[in-house]
Amino acid sequence: MFEKVLIANRGEIALRILRACKELDIKTVAVHSQIDRELKHVRLADESVCVGPNPSADSYLNIPAIISAMEITDSVAVHPGYGFLAENADFAEQVQKSGFVFIGPDPDIIRLMGDKVSAIAAMKKAGVPTVPGSDGPLPEDKEQCLEIGRRVGYPVIIKAAAGGGGRGMRVVHTESALLNSIHVTRAEANAAFGDDTVYMEKFLQNPRHVEIQVLSDGQGRAVHLHDRDCSLQRRHQKVIEEAPAPGIPEGVRRDVQQACVNACIDIGYKGAGTFEFLYEDGSFYFIEMNTRIQVEHPVTEMITGIDLIKEQIRVCSGAPLALDQDSIPCRGHAFECRINAEDPQTFMPCPGPVNNFHAPGGLGVRVDSHLYSGYRVPPNYDSMIAKIITHGDSRREALKRMQSALDELVVDGIRTNTALQQELVRDSAFAEGCVNIHYLEKKLGM
Ligand code: ADP
Repeated sequence: MFEKVLIANRGEIALRILRACKELDIKTVAVHSQIDRELKHVRLADESVCVGPNPSADSYLNIPAIISAMEITDSVAVHPGYGFLAENADFAEQVQKSGFVFIGPDPDIIRLMGDKVSAIAAMKKAGVPTVPGSDGPLPEDKEQCLEIGRRVGYPVIIKAAAGGGGRGMRVVHTESALLNSIHVTRAEANAAFGDDTVYMEKFLQNPRHVEIQVLSDGQGRAVHLHDRDCSLQRRHQKVIEEAPAPGIPEGVRRDVQQACVNACIDIGYKGAGTFEFLYEDGSFYFIEMNTRIQVEHPVTEMITGIDLIKEQIRVCSGAPLALDQDSIPCRGHAFECRINAEDPQTFMPCPGPVNNFHAPGGLGVRVDSHLYSGYRVPPNYDSMIAKIITHGDSRREALKRMQSALDELVVDGIRTNTALQQELVRDSAFAEGCVNIHYLEKKLGM
């Protein structure tokens, strides 16, 4: 096992990684920006290094500074968390070239999955169901594009191969709008990602977002840890997640889970990963793979009792996967509500001082948060300040627990989305289960 791990992240996930390291008797190094020296995990880590000024580009994304911090602290490995450098293949490569371990898959796998066109091709080859579409990049030839559009059938969506974070996508409803949409998406993709490769998919009208969690050791062993439904989204940002995904026929579920396990073995995947799908009318359609731990990983931990970050660290240290598929339980149901420091009307981030913080508690309630009374939420980073997670024997019990947990939560001094979350967990359609990805935006009148 690693002797010392550097945590290249901040906030709740840095604290989450620190906790896992402590349980594994691994020494920890926190890196932080100037404004982040008061973060909870910085205080709890064995060592800490300030890697730069407040803007992420100068600190959490500053690759030379982070690698230097590894060198001066004698760290052995780096855990990137999510966001920042977590899916940056160049970072993973430089970490390896400097003689350290990147806790995640190899750089070439991050690259393969980071390009959506190559990711889809690899998944198709491995037998994972994908969205009908252009089967590769769209050609320059206009007539060929029109032909592909006719074959796929309208509406279609044009997507940037290098896209991410909900950017670089355009829905096209009629053939007359196709060529112009391709042109505009190409130009946007080139400006945003420096790569104008675009491809076409059938636009699914009312899908749910369902994803499969995997763990794989890169040595021929892989397991899935069931699925999650993350359909409640605003602007492609997840708001509430749950595990397992409700209302999916067992046979369909088993087939897609097995396809993901096979794909991990096929590509030699190492670490924790998530296969994201759209699910509509009883069918799964792969859209992308996240080659890292995700924000919503706790709901899976609650139903399986497995610490995903500890397992991720173990397999990335070279240990063979110790889990056996048949011994991974799927017990009860879990929800996660993301609490953001944001204005409840405009959704604009609302940083500032937290005068009083009180976390909910009780049986089946988990709070992953770096907040404490007196902490000041800086304006420089993502606005998520806490994740409230509940578990119950049934979906109904877990949801009831979430209602009380949110009612107990106190965050004084800044504005948050808690009231919206309280409303959502009492929404009758959400309580029924299986709402689609448009439900929240429709409810909000967007
Ligand atoms: P990103 O990497 O930017 O998050 P994704 O490929 O994961 O991009 O897609 C983000 C979201 O866009 C999906 O969750 C879904 O809401 C919508 N979307 C993407 N592809 C399709 C599609 N073929 N049909 C309908 N909606 C889609």
